[in-house]
Amino acid sequence: MGTLLIHGGRVLRPDMTVVDADVLVDREAGDIVAVGPDLSGDETLNADGGLVIPGLVNAHTHVAMTLLRGHADDKPLDRWLREDIWPVEAALEPGDIEAGAELGVLEMIRSGTTAFADMYFEIDRTAAVVERAGLRARLGHGAISAGKSEAAARADIEESVEMARRFDGAADSRISTAVMPHSLTTVTPDLLSLAAEGAADAGVPVHYHANETADEVDPIVEKRGRRPLMWAQDLGLCRESDFLAHGVHLDGDEIDLLAETGTGVVHCPASNMKLASGMAPIQRLLDAGVTVGLGTDGAASNNDLDLFDELRDAAMLGKLAAGDASAVAAPDAVRMATAGGAAVLGIDAGRIEPGAAADLAVVDLDAPHLTPDHDLVSHLAYAVNGSDVRHTVCDGQVLMRDREVLTLDAAAVMARAERRARDLVARAD
Ligand SMILES: [Zn+2]
Repeated sequence: MGTLLIHGGRVLRPDMTVVDADVLVDREAGDIVAVGPDLSGDETLNADGGLVIPGLVNAHTHVAMTLLRGHADDKPLDRWLREDIWPVEAALEPGDIEAGAELGVLEMIRSGTTAFADMYFEIDRTAAVVERAGLRARLGHGAISAGKSEAAARADIEESVEMARRFDGAADSRISTAVMPHSLTTVTPDLLSLAAEGAADAGVPVHYHANETADEVDPIVEKRGRRPLMWAQDLGLCRESDFLAHGVHLDGDEIDLLAETGTGVVHCPASNMKLASGMAPIQRLLDAGVTVGLGTDGAASNNDLDLFDELRDAAMLGKLAAGDASAVAAPDAVRMATAGGAAVLGIDAGRIEPGAAADLAVVDLDAPHLTPDHDLVSHLAYAVNGSDVRHTVCDGQVLMRDREVLTLDAAAVMARAERRARDLVARAD
C-alpha cells in the first residue's frame, strides 16, 4: 500500500499554530509518520491552498436519525420524543437504519468528520456501513426501560452488552463499542447498574445522556436526595472511560466529580439550543480540567451533522453561558472538535503529528468567506463550513478526494434514504 503524501498545504499543529508543511502517512499502518517540508511519498493528495487539520470527531449522535431530519421541529424534548420521535422509531426496520446511517456517514465524510460515537438500534447495520465507508466509530445499542415490561427492559440492556462485546474491534479495529443505556431517567436504577457491570466486564465504556434538561435533574434530586451524577457514580457510571452526552445542568460538585473521575462530556450546543434545554457551562468544565468533546446529537434536533456548525455554536453559546466574550475561545472550540473528542472516544487521533492515527481533513481556504487569512484557527471556529472540506482521510485511506466520496455512491445513498424516509413516516402515521 505504501505511503500517501498530503502535499503543498499548511498544517494545524497540536499547539494550534499553523506551519507550511507536508504530511506523510503510512497507509498500511494508518498512521502519520512525518510532518515537515519537502517530504515525498508513493501517492500524493494535493493540499495547495488548503489547511490540513485533524479529522473532526462527532462524539455523540444517532446517525440513522438523518431519516427524521425535518420531520418534527420546534417542540421541547419531552413532547418531541413522545409525540414525534418515538412513534416513528417504533416503525423502524433494519433497512431504514442502514439507509439512514449511510446518509449520515456520507454527510460526515463530506464535512471532514472521521470518527463518531453512535447510540441507536440494529447496530450491526451501522457497523456494516462504517466498515465499507472507511471512517471510525464507537457504536452502542441504545437501551431504554420506559414503556417496557421489566423483563423486556432487562433484555434490552443485555442486548446492549452483547452487541458491545460482539462488535468491539470490528472493521480492522476502526469500530469500538460502548454499553449505552439511554439516560439516567429513562432506564431503571437496577438496569443502569447492570449496564455498568456489563461494560466493566466487557472492557468497554458506558455512554448515556445526562443532565440534559432541568426536567431530568429535578426528579432525581427529589427522589434520591442527590445530584444526578453523584447518584450515577453510586450506580457505577462515572469511570474514566465513560462519557455522557449534554451535561447542561451541572452544579460545581458535579463538575469536580467529572474532573476527578475523568468521565468525558460531549457538548451538543445546537441540540441544546433547538430543544431549549439550556446552556452547558463549558468554560467552567474546561477550567476544571474535564475532557470535553462535541457532538451534533441526532439530525432531528440539529438538523445537520456538519461539525463545523457545532464548533461555531460551542464558541458562541459558551460565551453567552459564561457572560464573557473571552470564554470558549476559538482554539478551545477547535480542540473540543478534534483532540477533545478523540480523548472522549478513547482513540489515538485528533492531532497532526507522527504516531497519531492518519485521520485528517484538508480545508480549502480559497473562498471569499475565508479571506483574508489573518488567523486560520479563528476561521476554523467561526467561518469554515463543512462544504469547504476538499479531502477526507481516515486510517490512512482517502475517503473523499476533491469532494468526491470514494467509498459510497452518493446519489444512490441519497435516493435510498429519501425513499426509506417517506415510507417510514407513512407507516408510522
Ligand atoms: Zn442524544
